Amino acid sequence: MAWGGGFGGGGGGMFGASQQTGLPFGGIPSELQSEANKVLATEPPREPSALSFSQRPSAKERLPLTLPRMLRVYPGWVAGGSLLVILTSLLLQGGPLLTELAINHGLLPGHRSLEVVFVCGGLYMVLAVANALLQRVQVDVTGKLAARVMHDLRIRVFIHFQRLSMDFFTEEKAGVLMSRMTSDVENLQQLVQDGISSFASQGLTMIVITAILFAINVTLALWTVLLVVPLMFVFTLWFHHASEKGYLLARDRIANVLADLSESLYGIRVVTANNRQQRNIRNHRHVVGAYRDANIYTGRVNAIYGPSTNMIGIFGSALLLGIGGHMVIEHKLSLGALVAFFLYLNRFFQPIQLLVQQYNSLQQGRSSVIRLRELLETPPTIDEMPDAIELPTIAGRITFDHVSFGYGPDNLVLHDVNLEIAPGESVAFVGPTGAGKSTMAKLANRFYDPTSGRILLDGIDIRTVSLHSLRSQLGVVPQEAFLFAGSIRTNLSFGRTNITDLEIEEAIDVVGLHELIERLPDGLDTIIHERGQTLSAGERQLLALARAFLARPRVLILDEATSSLDLQSETVIEKALDRLLEGRSAILIAHRLTTAQRADRIVVIDEGGIVEVGTPHDLLGRGGAYASMYEAWLESGGRDATRS
Ligand code: ADP
Repeated sequence: MAWGGGFGGGGGGMFGASQQTGLPFGGIPSELQSEANKVLATEPPREPSALSFSQRPSAKERLPLTLPRMLRVYPGWVAGGSLLVILTSLLLQGGPLLTELAINHGLLPGHRSLEVVFVCGGLYMVLAVANALLQRVQVDVTGKLAARVMHDLRIRVFIHFQRLSMDFFTEEKAGVLMSRMTSDVENLQQLVQDGISSFASQGLTMIVITAILFAINVTLALWTVLLVVPLMFVFTLWFHHASEKGYLLARDRIANVLADLSESLYGIRVVTANNRQQRNIRNHRHVVGAYRDANIYTGRVNAIYGPSTNMIGIFGSALLLGIGGHMVIEHKLSLGALVAFFLYLNRFFQPIQLLVQQYNSLQQGRSSVIRLRELLETPPTIDEMPDAIELPTIAGRITFDHVSFGYGPDNLVLHDVNLEIAPGESVAFVGPTGAGKSTMAKLANRFYDPTSGRILLDGIDIRTVSLHSLRSQLGVVPQEAFLFAGSIRTNLSFGRTNITDLEIEEAIDVVGLHELIERLPDGLDTIIHERGQTLSAGERQLLALARAFLARPRVLILDEATSSLDLQSETVIEKALDRLLEGRSAILIAHRLTTAQRADRIVVIDEGGIVEVGTPHDLLGRGGAYASMYEAWLESGGRDATRS
């Protein structure tokens, strides 16, 4: 299998710690200086980023993700927001009381007073204005709180991705991960921004109104609380179960839709070349159809719930009108109190219905928290030991000591492999596709751990050292060089931060990239598009070699590109390889036997075991597996040797 994008290319450096990153700065042109000063004057001072990365999460990062924990980081904002929610919920409830006052003391025969009506009306307006102002501040506060909490969450999930091991990224589809970062995080943003505050404010309103209803008239209030509320409660419980099921289903299915979409878009070249459009559409229709069914189900649940609770509310009101009206006629209740009761009653049902409507977004937020928590709790399979040491600068002795390995528990891919690579020695792995060559390389880089046995670097078990110190001394050149969005220069400087222009020049010289750089419009600063699709396969490979050269690893692991290069590119690459390998231990997964022939030793791997080891000369003389491979290769005209 190909190493694909997983091998990000380039290890890290181990020489020099001086920080002289970035481009040489030529200064701001004089005609732009005044503009620059203006911009600088308005720029807030920025602290250097306090973010750092370590493979082992801190004790705080290890706590399960919950909404309260996310919010607790900003106690001031939470307290301010809560206070504003309480104030706004209380302020609005003054209105009906003022109406009652106006009716009973300003409008009823015998009590007519324009003054009372005007004062009540004026106070009502003051309350409304104060409420609007406070609400404005509250929305601003909760919006800012949500933005901060979501920022922290995005960074936390992203850092977790950096810690996870290769098996996670091969098993989890990119689309599913993207949906965690997009729809799940956005659901939560919605929840923190509006959901929680309006939920709290509606809940609070209900409590306040219940108290007021009882204060106005106990009998009417009891009818409301004992008859209408339980009916609504039973319905809500049913809705709770049905809608949770629906939302979990919809989340899963939209993740499938996104996964299928991203795979089809990434693979569009292969899809088109193989005429798979129709099958792809059929497949996509299948996953989109499943998502539609989940949405139809939730729609049906909502359709039953909304109108039913409405009806309960209306029936309740009609019943209370009968009872309340009777009480007014019998002089057991004032007209003003009945009007106020009904005004409050509407406001009492409103939160119940709003709470239900918002229940959906609360549900979505809740399932998003659960999913994100699960994601954050997925441990990396390859982790550092708590007492991991820093790997000292190594000479480069690599030892496979009785190594067996399988990707799954039952299926061993490597069987008891023993091999020692001396410092500075280059060893080519050859053998048929699927033999286990890349797997051995992935174990050496600790992308996976052996099922049994050990891998040692200069006699140190690589499981006992920190991942950063290990990888900073290993350079990896994958089969398909992964180029990131950015300039050629930033792509080359990927493995180390303090790379000077002089070093870049040297690397370009070593791998023979001069011609390409001269041909490009902006030289080293030319921006790479679409992961370097505008460059040839040979050029991408040369860039990857230059990147590895600049990272100055002690050990190089190179998966040779299988895509056929033209003869000229092959010669250039072979020359570059010779320079790159000088003084370094190297594992070369050789697809061309010309590369294998240049190595100090060749290891022939077949069916997960080593079948032959020796210098190219020895092996050819021995007449074994390698000799017959070599013969077949010569007969085929010297193309890819592993496509047997
Ligand atoms: P080679 O590099 O010699 O072509 P690999 O080391 O890539 O072979 O693969 C060895 C075996 O392991 C093959 O049978 C392959 O299908 C299997 N394999 C490789 N990668 C994975 C993976 N991520 N999960 C499961 N099996 C894998």
